[in-house]
Amino acid sequence: MSRNIGLYIHIPICRSKCYYCDFSSYPLNRFTEKDLDLYVLALEYELKHLASLGLASTELTSVYIGGGTPALIDPARLVLIMESVVRYFTLANSCELTIELNPSNCTPNLLRGLQKAGFNRYSLGVQSFNDPALLQLGRAHTGEEARAAAQFLRQEVSNLSLDLIYGLPNDSLARWQADLEEVLVLQPDHISLYSLQVEEGTPLARQVAAGLVEQVDDDLQASLWEWTCDRLYPTDYEHYEISNWALPGKESRHNLGYWLYTPYYGVGAGAAGFLGGQRYRNSSDPWFYTELMRKGKFTAKFPAAEEVERISKEQQVIGQIILALRTNRGLNTERIVGISAAEFWRRYGQKITEYCAMGLMWRNQQIVGLTETGMALSNRIFLTFMP
Ligand code: SF4
Repeated sequence: MSRNIGLYIHIPICRSKCYYCDFSSYPLNRFTEKDLDLYVLALEYELKHLASLGLASTELTSVYIGGGTPALIDPARLVLIMESVVRYFTLANSCELTIELNPSNCTPNLLRGLQKAGFNRYSLGVQSFNDPALLQLGRAHTGEEARAAAQFLRQEVSNLSLDLIYGLPNDSLARWQADLEEVLVLQPDHISLYSLQVEEGTPLARQVAAGLVEQVDDDLQASLWEWTCDRLYPTDYEHYEISNWALPGKESRHNLGYWLYTPYYGVGAGAAGFLGGQRYRNSSDPWFYTELMRKGKFTAKFPAAEEVERISKEQQVIGQIILALRTNRGLNTERIVGISAAEFWRRYGQKITEYCAMGLMWRNQQIVGLTETGMALSNRIFLTFMP
């Protein structure tokens, strides 16, 4: 029987590195044309191998090409990647096919190539329209380029997602309001709003440690969140996940798959996957990954993986609880695989009753979820479910 399953393909290439970024990505100028061709071929080999495993359904409900900046490798190569996908996998009816885009290279020519490759959902990393904010983030585009790219895509595509970041060093409510209002004028189908995280090992973390920039304080962070919820709540956008808002029917199916704990393939250097109760992460070095795939030693189940972890039954239970609580659908306690509803309530019932009384959680018979206030404090609430 087929189940929902997604496919994530990682293109670890960017024009330059943003200061806050800890994703696996390398500057474009380190790749020759031949490197790029070989990387695309390596992806084909890994796709073929994973399809042959028969670990889960081979009918894909979503494909997501992210990075990095996937469009930098040339649309013709993206066409080749999508041809490999359909060569080895069956796409479900109305399969969601998303590509991440960066404002610095969004042109009519590129969009024609992407449409030819079959993408039906476009996710543009705007982050901000404000030049000083973009400078602080180390983004490789200006506010005007972000504006032009977002307006162009809004005219041309029917399923558009825009990303913004809040809680920057020296941030202000006025800066954030201006950015979100500009996004709302464009009426994207989906909006992702992320609070800036200072990740270890990034240039931003070094700037913070050296006292060159100051992290936003908790009070301002809370005000930004509250204003955002108050502003979006009366609109048609549904707050369907802590950081994500969508018009009806325009939720990211691919990301919903992660939150609903469904399996997914991860392909490419630095990609992660979750199949058959195992989580794996591929080697993040694209040249090493390419070499591995070209050697063709597919004796291991996940031949490009540098980490494979069997997720214990208990970890899977905790994962299902926490990920479902990120969504506004909440957690159906009768549908957690590995634990009965009775056992769930025995373990967590008292705490959940307290959270409900504090206005942080709601309960509807066997379904529980976080309120807007609870979402703002989700990291603390999730600790309740940790071992
Ligand atoms: S564009 Fe995205 S992936 Fe590339 S460096 Fe910036 S944040 Fe990282």
